[in-house]
Amino acid sequence: MVPVAGTRLYHRSVNYELFMGEALAEAQLALDDGEPPCAAVAVVDEAMVARARDRVRETGDPTAHAVVAAVREAARRLGRDRLADVTIFTTLEPCAMCVGALLQADIETLVFAAPDPDNGAAGGAIQLAQSAQLPRRLRVVSGIRRDEVEELRRRAAARGAPARARAS
Ligand SMILES: [Zn+2]
Repeated sequence: MVPVAGTRLYHRSVNYELFMGEALAEAQLALDDGEPPCAAVAVVDEAMVARARDRVRETGDPTAHAVVAAVREAARRLGRDRLADVTIFTTLEPCAMCVGALLQADIETLVFAAPDPDNGAAGGAIQLAQSAQLPRRLRVVSGIRRDEVEELRRRAAARGAPARARAS
């Protein structure tokens, strides 16, 4: 049996709070653009290689989620499609599509701030990130700067900004 990612040692030097702060700043920009306040950054060796936010409304593309965009940009900038050394920081627990993209890219570590009980695929709604039925698993760190992200989401809701599709 493949050991669950998560038994590996942390990259202790990575500053989770700092990079989540970058994602938070980007999420604020998304909110300013009328998108859900969802953003992601990709980090390698303590350097940010991609920064993205939701652009579903702007592009009319329902797959234009921050995590997918960050994975694409990181692959483009690094010039390769295997991204095991990349850590993704995202404000909101990623959906099934986004977790699928992380797994396809061989990314090992996902850091998110707030859980998403409606659509989260790292245990919030379903568990795809650490499924025993798949050949790869993500190491998941959650709750980094969660309060700030939830405050941003409350402000978004108060403004009537679109939420990610919610269960209803
Ligand atoms: Zn997504």
